[in-house]
Amino acid sequence: MTQTSATPLSGRVAVISGASSGIGEATAEQLSGQGATVVLLARREDRLAGLAARIEKDGGTAVAIAVDVTDAAAVQAAADRVAAELGGADLLFNNAGVMLPAPIEELATGQWQHQIDLNVTGLMNTVGAFVPQLVEAGTERGVADLVNTSSIAAQNIFPNFAVYSATKAYVTHLSRHLRAELGPKNVRVSAIEPGIVGTELQSHVTDPGAREWLEGSKETMKWLAPQDVAATIGFLAALPPHVNLQQVTIMPTGQLS
Ligand code: NDP
Repeated sequence: MTQTSATPLSGRVAVISGASSGIGEATAEQLSGQGATVVLLARREDRLAGLAARIEKDGGTAVAIAVDVTDAAAVQAAADRVAAELGGADLLFNNAGVMLPAPIEELATGQWQHQIDLNVTGLMNTVGAFVPQLVEAGTERGVADLVNTSSIAAQNIFPNFAVYSATKAYVTHLSRHLRAELGPKNVRVSAIEPGIVGTELQSHVTDPGAREWLEGSKETMKWLAPQDVAATIGFLAALPPHVNLQQVTIMPTGQLS
């Protein structure tokens, strides 16, 4: 595909983790619409296959790879396949994550570990597998992108969301450091920090108090849609190579904090 103003990402290869639903799914469609070849990572093979079929029907190119990002060897195998079949990635949307709030005194240690394993270790496994490809693309073609999904929880205080918020503070702080390290190699690094977005994320919440708070918030504001966040990722990826949006906070207009 020739690059035009409507397809500023043509020729680029974008890997999206957490592509089977929510923000990742919408971003895969967005980046494909802007001309990128997209690689879809998540565990649910059927969902990835359906998304890939939709993208191909719309004239895009999508490769679906079912992978659990907490398995470092499996993520590396996915990266090796991207290198072999597509010549490597030049955009990584590192987005898979889970939010499981609960009062700390409930000692929901399984949920603590799940969030740390996915939001921190899974994110790092994906960084480890794909950063060499991003650096190669930055060096050879002058631009590559690493976009990590953080949250406003990285900055703000939400009682009962301590572990989730701490994993997202990790993501934001890591992103700032990686930007300083990789920017000189033409790899832009961004942390995207959304407020509430209507996705499957809320459906995994088991704590009754948090569920009630989330449900109640729908009465006071219009939540963001995954497409709102996806459009922001599309915007930052299409900026000229010397422009790096380091940190983007995107809120529902009616959400206070
Ligand atoms: P979803 O639950 O819709 O998406 C989560 C994605 O992560 C799914 O595609 C899921 O796919 C994937 N995933 C979960 N576990 C694994 C795993 N072990 N290996 C690979 N993929 C996995 O939620 P969102 O789209 O909302 O979440 C995306 C990101 O946005 C998360 O990091 C979340 O913390 C962040 N965020 C969300 C906000 C919101 O209000 N929705 C606000 C701020 C940040 P599968 O189950 O098929 O593996």
